[in-house]
Amino acid sequence: MVSRVIPVEPFDLVVFGGTGDLARRKILPGLYLRYLAGQMPPDARVIGAARGDLTDDEFRKTVAEAIEEFVPAARRDAAAIAGFLGRLAYVAIDAKGETGWARLKELIRDDVVQAFYFSVAPALFGDLAERLRLHGIAGPQARIVVEKPFGRDLASARALNATLAQHFTESQIYRIDHYLGKETVQNLMAVRFANILFEPLWKSEYIDHVQITVAETVSVNGRGAYYDKSGAMRDMVQNHMMQLLCLIAMEPPYHFDPDAVRDEKLKVIRALDPVRPEDIVRGQYRAGGDEGSYVEHSENPDSRTESYIALKLNISNWRWKGTPFYLRTGKRLRARESEIAITFKEPPHSIFDDDRGWRENVLVIRLQPDEGMNLKVMIKEPGPGGMRLVQVPLDMSFADALGDAAQDVPDAYERLIMDVIRGNQTLFMRGDEVEAAWAWTDPIIEGWEARGHRPQGYDPGTSGPEDALMLMHRDGRRWREIKA
Ligand code: NAD
Repeated sequence: MVSRVIPVEPFDLVVFGGTGDLARRKILPGLYLRYLAGQMPPDARVIGAARGDLTDDEFRKTVAEAIEEFVPAARRDAAAIAGFLGRLAYVAIDAKGETGWARLKELIRDDVVQAFYFSVAPALFGDLAERLRLHGIAGPQARIVVEKPFGRDLASARALNATLAQHFTESQIYRIDHYLGKETVQNLMAVRFANILFEPLWKSEYIDHVQITVAETVSVNGRGAYYDKSGAMRDMVQNHMMQLLCLIAMEPPYHFDPDAVRDEKLKVIRALDPVRPEDIVRGQYRAGGDEGSYVEHSENPDSRTESYIALKLNISNWRWKGTPFYLRTGKRLRARESEIAITFKEPPHSIFDDDRGWRENVLVIRLQPDEGMNLKVMIKEPGPGGMRLVQVPLDMSFADALGDAAQDVPDAYERLIMDVIRGNQTLFMRGDEVEAAWAWTDPIIEGWEARGHRPQGYDPGTSGPEDALMLMHRDGRRWREIKA
């Protein structure tokens, strides 16, 4: 199977923060890969804009180094790299001052798609939006791409939405949540809404519970000061995990259309119950191996920030009442693994005498590593000996099933940037969605802050704090194993 690449319209894409970590690791290598795939038309250009006086050639050199470091060798093609570098320019700019804006205006064409990627600290988002307008750089159809975090609570997210709205309309604002750009996450929608098989069962009558796990092995070392102001709830749950939950729980949109999809996601967030303190487990990793503890990494000896969180959520609507969603995410855990597991209820009655192997059906959607799906079903154990049952996985690794096409699957950033150029907002968060997510998150955080809650310690290389096990045990359920 060969993947199809549809070229996009000519564009000028300005990457503010073009010399920063995210631009070097994801955005610029991603753009190179789209160039390599033949998706970039001949007159598309990428302009880096950041602090620091670089010439165009010096910028190209930093991008060449980034490609060398972050693109797999098999996809580094000398001619393609040279061609891509030829599309680059650089402007030294000050988001808070006047330097560079006149030069940027000269460079930007007004007869192509204009996109401005804000890959800078969130404190600068408002300044960039204002100056793009003030200097007459952004035309009426221009798009801005805003990185995370989008606020740190409802008040700051509202303020940021209001600031951006002074200069750009909602249809011009692309709030990135890179989880939505992942292949498997979009596959969730395809599985649900392009098959008849699952949707009739997709409700509390047939689904016992849902588990969403995003486990990381990395520590916060190197970004401890930043992370300490955030924590797992703000960094992962409010945005990425909430988006996954919405895609599992939402009603079928009438069409695969940006606002139809986002309307349905918003309804899910609004239907979330407040979370009871006993349904929250917060953890902080201890020292282990060669690495220090969370507190050492955060450089805050009294830090109460969580590097792990597990929550039990309930959605109060007709479809989901009675089916809990268990979420957990953490750093320094046993393995890097993200998955969604949907556990169905047992059949109402067993006609078989042998019920030793009797288990529920489980649909597992793996986001990483090895994106794929797995459906656990009961079958007869082969051989003589009567009707004995055994559970087997119907396993589909996308890499195996789709062959070369799966190898060419673009990274989330590649896909999302091309969606910006195409003007498709389906995989971007709308302002009201972000605010609704914060409106649900704020009281949870305020609650533990008011209680002076201290996270429970956990050892690196484990699946998290002991109390997280209890969160499920007391409901007669178990977390799926995080496999090393
Ligand atoms: P960084 O500190 O590595 O880079 C910041 C960039 O902003 C640099 O290019 C710098 O020159 C530029 N800059 C700083 N002040 C400026 C000013 N006054 N005017 C113009 N340019 C200025 O940051 P980063 O890690 O690349 O993060 C960028 C954004 O992406 C942040 O919003 C961050 O939260 C978000 N983000 C980063 C990552 C990541 O993995 N690095 C992941 C998700 C989201």
